[in-house]
Amino acid sequence: MATFRERAFLACQDQAGKLHAGPQITGSRGKVPFPTVCPAKTKPVAVVHTHPPDDGLEPSDQDLAETRRRGIDLVCVAYKDRFRCFPVH
Ligand SMILES: [Zn+2]
Repeated sequence: MATFRERAFLACQDQAGKLHAGPQITGSRGKVPFPTVCPAKTKPVAVVHTHPPDDGLEPSDQDLAETRRRGIDLVCVAYKDRFRCFPVH
């Protein structure tokens, strides 16, 4: 069985409203450092990351705190075949 590794990237928006993905970071099975890089002239609008198969769709307290600390409004979780974004405020 392949080893699951969490992955994360920032969804970033430019002034025209278009979305761009920042570089994807690969972490360990249950943890990934949240990315900080957006393409030039864009601002982060969401932290997007995966959760391992035995975790769940809900963001962890740390997910919420880390996202909030970066001044970003949304944290999005991909879990199995589901995907949802959660406001952190
Ligand atoms: Zn998480």
